[in-house]
Amino acid sequence: MRSVLVRYHEVALKKGNRRYFIERLKENLVASVRDLGFREIKSLPGRILVLFERESDTEEIRRRVQSVFGVANFSFAVRTEPDLALLKQQILTSLEGTRFASFRVQTKRADKRFPLTSPEIDRQLGAAIQEQSHARVDLENAELTIAVEVLPDDAFFGYEKIPGAGGLPVGVSGRVVALISGGIDSPVAAYRMMRRGCRLVYVHFHSFPFLDATSQHKVRELVQLLTRHQFRSRLYLVPFGEIQRRIVASVLRPLRVVLYRRMMLRIAEAIARKEKASALVTGESLGQVASQTLANLSVIEEASRLLILRPLVGMDKSEIIDQARKIGTFEISVIPDQDCCQLFVPRHPATNAGLAEVLRAESALDIQSMIDFGIENVAIHDFHFPELLPKTISDEERA
Ligand code: ATP
Ligand code: MG
Repeated sequence: MRSVLVRYHEVALKKGNRRYFIERLKENLVASVRDLGFREIKSLPGRILVLFERESDTEEIRRRVQSVFGVANFSFAVRTEPDLALLKQQILTSLEGTRFASFRVQTKRADKRFPLTSPEIDRQLGAAIQEQSHARVDLENAELTIAVEVLPDDAFFGYEKIPGAGGLPVGVSGRVVALISGGIDSPVAAYRMMRRGCRLVYVHFHSFPFLDATSQHKVRELVQLLTRHQFRSRLYLVPFGEIQRRIVASVLRPLRVVLYRRMMLRIAEAIARKEKASALVTGESLGQVASQTLANLSVIEEASRLLILRPLVGMDKSEIIDQARKIGTFEISVIPDQDCCQLFVPRHPATNAGLAEVLRAESALDIQSMIDFGIENVAIHDFHFPELLPKTISDEERA
């Protein structure tokens, strides 16, 4: 049976939430590989073991596990009986034809009833490997590390340690609503909060039919991509053009962007309440554009009572772009579209909108009916990863 040994950072675990962390991580691992010949998942001391059918697709399993947050590193391992002679024989067979100049054996013995200690197992296996391969033992900088784990009912050995995505398992930090625009920044902001253990619900505001529908297509692609990390996501598409039209009818140009943003926050807050989410996430970065000065950010956030998370606030554009490339969102984000906030606004919006001035402008609007309009006309899309497969033929039917 093929198996994957998953390790997590013990330091990330505070005492009280250890079990919760591990349960979430196990659920997420199962969700990520459930269509790849998954058989079973078990907690072992300090690690998690995922068992697969023999013929499972190793490369795909590797890609999937690499995008599960909370995984520090993992390795593919072979299972044998917890018996030294068998273990030795299987390791030697698996190493036939492999060339390496130096190696080390690292044994972890979780079953203290096993007759040998870990260093004794290291030495005995090491001697056999050395005899077959003529490679030297190097405890510091070995070219090949053979990791052995001895448990009460099974033993495992494996080679390469593959780095995981780190962070915290999605779900342990609770649920938040991410405002996603189709630009470069907000998908990166979403990714960073997911990596801190948040489960995201997405909201996108579009100005269709006043503008074309490209931003909606982009956001759907972005959410599908980001769903690799949380396995199921919901996207609320809110028609914003009519709301903007009402703002434009009574508000002078320089204030419009700030009023658009305040409306976005109010509607996102209403969605967050419905979804039982406890914060909003935006891709705002201090000073990046006129609407993101300290003065404007505070006037904007005054519209909502929810906590607003801005994971990019201290990042440079070039750092954000680097990360967007790494997580694969950049190529989608740079497809040209028509940004709803550019609708009916001047090239130079106010950089220092005062709250009093903004409240005066809003007093001419029926804010509640605008929120209701957005909520009532919302379209909801659900995403799954792996994408739901049509029901497969059951074994009996096939026979
Ligand atoms: P981005 O690259 O994410 O579009 P930006 O640099 O263009 O960000 P703004 O246009 O000021 O900055 O938007 C700031 C944040 O407001 C975005 O990161 C996003 O979280 C939210 N936002 C802006 N427009 C929309 C929209 N149409 N739908 C949902 N959220 C939006
Ligand atoms: Mg934008």
